[in-house]
Amino acid sequence: MNKVRTRYAPSPTGRMHVGNLRTALYAYLIAKHKDGDFILRIEDTDQERFVEGAIDIIYNTLNLTGLHHDEGPDVGGPVGPYIQSERKGLYLEYAKELVSKGEAYYCFCDKERLDALRAETEEKGGTFRYDKHCSHLSKEEVEKNLAAGLPYVIRQNNPTEGFTTFEDEIYGTISVPNNELDDMVLIKSDGLPTYNFANVVDDHLMGITHVVRGNEYLSSSPKYNRLYEAFGWEVPVYVHCPLITNEEHQKLSKRSGHSSFEDLYEQGYLIDTIVNFVALLGWNPGTNEEMFSLEDLVKIFDYRKINKSPAVFDMQKLKWMNSEYIKKQSPEAFFKMAEPYIKTVVKNPNTDFFKISNLVQSRAEVLTDIPERIDFIDELPEYSTELYIHKKMKTTEENSLESLKAALPVLETISDWKAEVLHDEMMKLVETLGIKNGQMLWPIRTAISGKAATPGGAFEIAEILGKEETLNRIRIGIEKLTK
Ligand code: GLU
Repeated sequence: MNKVRTRYAPSPTGRMHVGNLRTALYAYLIAKHKDGDFILRIEDTDQERFVEGAIDIIYNTLNLTGLHHDEGPDVGGPVGPYIQSERKGLYLEYAKELVSKGEAYYCFCDKERLDALRAETEEKGGTFRYDKHCSHLSKEEVEKNLAAGLPYVIRQNNPTEGFTTFEDEIYGTISVPNNELDDMVLIKSDGLPTYNFANVVDDHLMGITHVVRGNEYLSSSPKYNRLYEAFGWEVPVYVHCPLITNEEHQKLSKRSGHSSFEDLYEQGYLIDTIVNFVALLGWNPGTNEEMFSLEDLVKIFDYRKINKSPAVFDMQKLKWMNSEYIKKQSPEAFFKMAEPYIKTVVKNPNTDFFKISNLVQSRAEVLTDIPERIDFIDELPEYSTELYIHKKMKTTEENSLESLKAALPVLETISDWKAEVLHDEMMKLVETLGIKNGQMLWPIRTAISGKAATPGGAFEIAEILGKEETLNRIRIGIEKLTK
């Protein structure tokens, strides 16, 4: 058996769509599951779609997600170059080989003729297919045109009868009538290959054994198959992955605002979450288990379990999974991720950022939740005294004022300013006063946060604020409630 070699072949067109990330991930997993090679090839022959900086996005995303490639433009390898535009000299020879075999032909049709042909077909409501006009040129005519320097393309010469059949690992046996196959362009008039041609030549020259890509390429695959056969090359295993849709069952588009790795990363999803979630877009191990690290996936991934049916991008599930990953992090690892978010709102350098991080760890769904949850730490926000009224806690403005007044002198005497100490002292006070716990906890938390919801309870927050600030805020509360 040949060594398994897969490739990720993105076109540098911008952010990495989750569909592309999934292709990269599955290609990586198929290779690594069998100790094979994972290759990165940049497909940049379509210069019009090229976006500045997009290659760096690709490197960066593969690096962050841990999908390290064994060969590629930046790491080299035996079958380079790995950037298609740097390979542009090699395709013409292959196209000419097909011409000599009668599997391709020169086409000199100009834009006017093709436009007219297209208009004519569209008028009849058909799908445009080149009418093979130039396939009938004699050898002499072709030579003459070439010698005269007429612009040309090279097209595939597909038969008009019979069927082309190939196997896809996910979609099964696919058979299409040859008269539906367009004589697609292989070499463009600028001399560059089309994606349709380059992918076949490159996959062959790079020894790719498994071709993993989105199912939008499924309908072109019979034509690719014909190319392999015309060259006499071994056809790779095809793994076409299902469409990814939004919850309304439409194709997940940029407009959703969460269609790329970069979108999700910016929105506070952990890299581990994104990789795990994307792995499950169209695949599952056949058990109920859902939490997988990249290493787990390498062990268990079986591409034959990829589904045909479209995968729905379920936002609720993504959020749930992210909160699970947040909880799973060690406090130190979480702190590394949370610190930049904490520092966007907590500017006081004397704050114990690590304690804040611990406070939010069990309560954040996404990292971007963090700032809004702790925006009261630096400065007490404006709040209305109605916040002290809580039915379940049985608090009113009046009894809250009583509690705060009773708490203040006790708190003033505490020197060991720790949540547990504060808790014990206040519980003693609750007992002396004969009130309910909530009638002390709610007013204190309200006074020191000015918010109805906070991560952590009154004493955890008080510890972070420190004694002076806590007492200050309680005094402000007393003042506000004293009308
Ligand atoms: N360059 C193509 C794309 O970005 C890759 C398709 C393939 O993997 O063959 O969609």
